[in-house]
This record gives sequence, C-alpha cells and structure tokens, in this order.
Amino acid sequence: MSISLNSATIRGIDGVMVKVEVDLIKSLPSFSIVGLPDASVKESRERVRSAIVNSGFEFPLGRVVVNLAPGNIKKEGTYFDLPIALAILLITGQINNFEINDFVVLGELSLNGELREVNGILPIVIEARDNGIKNFIVPLKNAEETSIIKESKVYAFSTLKEVVCFITYKDVMPYSKEEKSKSIDNGIDFKDVVAQESVKRALEVACAGGHSVLLYGEPGCGKSMLANRVPTILPTLSYEEALEVTKIYSVCGGLKENEGIREERPFRSPHHTASTVTLSGGGSKLKPGEITLAHNGVLYLDEILEFKKDVLEVLRQPLEEKKIIISRNTGTVEYPANFMLIASMNPCPCGYLMSNSYFKQCKCSENEKKRYLSRLSGPLLERMDLFVFVPPVPLENLQNKNLQSESSKEIKIRVEKARGIQLERFKDKRIFCNGQMSHRDIMDKCNISSDALNLLDKIYKKFDISARVYDRILKISRTIADLDESKSINRSHVIEALQYRRFINKEII
Ligand SMILES: [Zn+2]
Repeated sequence: MSISLNSATIRGIDGVMVKVEVDLIKSLPSFSIVGLPDASVKESRERVRSAIVNSGFEFPLGRVVVNLAPGNIKKEGTYFDLPIALAILLITGQINNFEINDFVVLGELSLNGELREVNGILPIVIEARDNGIKNFIVPLKNAEETSIIKESKVYAFSTLKEVVCFITYKDVMPYSKEEKSKSIDNGIDFKDVVAQESVKRALEVACAGGHSVLLYGEPGCGKSMLANRVPTILPTLSYEEALEVTKIYSVCGGLKENEGIREERPFRSPHHTASTVTLSGGGSKLKPGEITLAHNGVLYLDEILEFKKDVLEVLRQPLEEKKIIISRNTGTVEYPANFMLIASMNPCPCGYLMSNSYFKQCKCSENEKKRYLSRLSGPLLERMDLFVFVPPVPLENLQNKNLQSESSKEIKIRVEKARGIQLERFKDKRIFCNGQMSHRDIMDKCNISSDALNLLDKIYKKFDISARVYDRILKISRTIADLDESKSINRSHVIEALQYRRFINKEII
C-alpha cells in the first residue's frame, strides 16, 4: 500500500498543490522519482537517503518509488525532500500513522537531516488555504512567511528528527507570530530635497493619477534622488496588494529572514546594461524580472537612452496589459507587472544643453543632438505622460539651512485623497486611477468647463497635436483637478497640465 502526503510547488508566482505518493516494493534496492521532476528534484534522492540515515532511522531495502502528481506539471525546487522522507518513514512503520493529510509538508533536507528554508512559501500557503488546508509543516526559517496568512497554523522545525517527534507526540504548539512594531521608515523623505518645488509638484501629480514621468536635466541635478522618493508619496499598499508584492519576493528568495508581509512599495532601478531577461523575467531558472519586482511600485530607468532598444521593447506589453507572459517549452508563465514608470535622461549627449551656467556650456553639434533624441523612439515617447525638467539647484539653496521642505507624509495625504476621488469615480469599473482611463472613459468621466475647452481647442489647432496627446493632456488635467478637489476640469488645470507636455525645445509634445 502506498502513502501520500500534500506538498506543493511554484508556477510563475502561484502555488500548485502536489501529492507526494511513495510506494515500497519488495525487489532489488532502488530509489526513483517520477512525475516530471527537474534536476533539483531528482537530486532529492541523495539528500533524503542521507538525512534519514544520519537522523538515526533506517532507509528501507527494496524498491522505493516516488510519484509526484499531477504528472503534467514540471516540478521544480527542493520542496519535496521533507515529504518524501516522512512518507518513507511512515510506509516503513518507523513513525506511526497520523492525520498527515490535514497538513501541507515542505522543506529541503541537508545530508545531516537539518531542515533548510525554501523559496516561494507564501504563494503555496495561499493556494493551500484556497484548497481548504490550513496546517503546515515547514522549516523554521520559513515560519514567519508562512504565518502571513492569518488562517494558517504553522508548525516549524529545524531538523527531520524534530518533525518526527512532533508527529509521534503531537506536543508542539503552532508557531505564533511575533507582533513586531514595523517601521517602514527607511530614512528617505522628500523633505531632504532642497528646492526643486516644481519637480516635486509634478511627481505629486504623477503619483496622484498613476502617470508615467520622464525627468530630464543636466548630470548631478538630482533626478535619481527625486525618483527614489516617489514610493514614499504613493498611497499605502492595500492588504491584497501587499500580499501580491510579498508573493513575488517570496518566489525570488528576496525576503529577508523572518520578514513578514512587505508593506513598502517596491522601487527598482535596473542598470542600463540590463538584458531583456533581467527586465522581463524567464531564463533557465524561471524567475520574475525587474518589471515584476516593481509590481505595485516604481520602475525607474535612469539614463533611459543608454538602454538597448530590444530591452526597452520589453516594456510594451506590461505597460499596456499590466502583466508579462513568458513562453517556455514547458508552457507559458504569466507574471504581474503593474508599475509606475519613471525614466530620466540628459537633454543632450554632453548633458548641458539647458544650462545657464557660464562654465557648463553645451558642446554638442546639431547632428549629435538630433541623433541623441531620435533614440527616444516613438512607442516609448508615446507612453510618457509627464515631461519634467529638473533644474540644477543653485548653490545658495544648498547652503541655506533654513530652507524647509514639505515632508513625504504631507504630500502623501493629498495623493491618497485624490486617489480616493478616482476610486469613487470608477467604482463600477476595473480602473483605479486616471492614468488607466481609455478615450471613452475620458469622454464620459471628465467634466470639462467651457473656458478649459476653449483653451484646449486653441492648443489643438495651434500645435497640431495628435488625438493621443490630446487625451493625455485631459488625463493629467483630470488628476490636477482631483488634487484641487474640483468636480470639473478648469482652465487653470489645463494650463498646468500643458507645462508637463513641454520637452527640451518643443512647446507641446
Ligand atoms: Zn550637449
């Protein structure tokens, strides 16, 4: 008679339940694993055999067959060491029967029988909960992560022996989560940024409406410093959003030891030498890429023109669909990728095109400038909502200790209020902010005053702008009106929005 245990694996960023079935047949000794195991799962045989023997138990003589069901899903990772070892101990009567089917069992074993942590526990816990299983036997280092889901009962151990004791005597209490006072204060705040008020205002508008931003200015003007403060003014993550973020980092092994749920919005800033796989995810060991690690947060592309064209091309699908699909020979995997895009660049190759300083004069030829800007290709340009010039900070501002800036907390209150208005506006649709509006939504939901319409008409005719740019100006205007708590878009809102469509020497882009 065979024994079966509940375990699980990962596909994309989701958990998949797996039954570990073990049978022992009187025959010449052998040990095999079937059911689409990858190399890391096959290696499990050696670890399980040594762990059992080194923990003081006997490895059976005879033919041991392990089947991982369902057989049509590729099994990756080292999750199955512990369930396989337990099943062998159960089938050989070295431990007594137990309501093992009420549990999900996971964990990697060392040759000595120690339990090692595994990646991707959180998605597995969520999947098990949805399948009605709430008890978990896991490595101690995974305990905190497993207990993120409130309904779960977590039994965490550091060796195979301890697990066997628990099964025999059932005298262990479930792991209880320490209530830690969490501070998300990582020291980054907009109040440290002196001056730059116009840029901060633009970033506030962008966050309030979920719009993308291109920052441009000379080297050293503080573009990166401004961009990495953006997560501090974005709305607080909802529980569901925080779970999504934690799941992604759980799968990549990006959670710190004993880290619970992630409460900060991610900020990812891949280097411009990044490959397409680094950005999109995939690769031989299937992993989420930078755009998925930025999910529910910010993806910052510093020096965007230095990135390779095919790498930037990867952004197309996620910017439209908020997800990325990766095809592999074993099937396709879908990763979430709903991020706010912020990019930065110098206005010309030398960087000083817009400088007023006598010492920093642009030395680029017309041709060089033209060639440089042509790298900002059409599709990418089309996806940018706000174009924001970052001026250099005058020395007297840097030296003035009395200059007070608004804190991130204060800005965030306004951003959250504006987002609240948008959620109410789109409550019957799957739209969460103005940045996601379609042309139809703009027509239906943007209440435009007559003098604002007159101004827009003039602009439309004078600058011969495209319908897409026209929509974009309206979306930004709608967000500015929301920050103003105004029901209709007024002339002043449109005038501010137009400022964000100026780019280097173009009045309206
Ligand atoms: Zn230049």
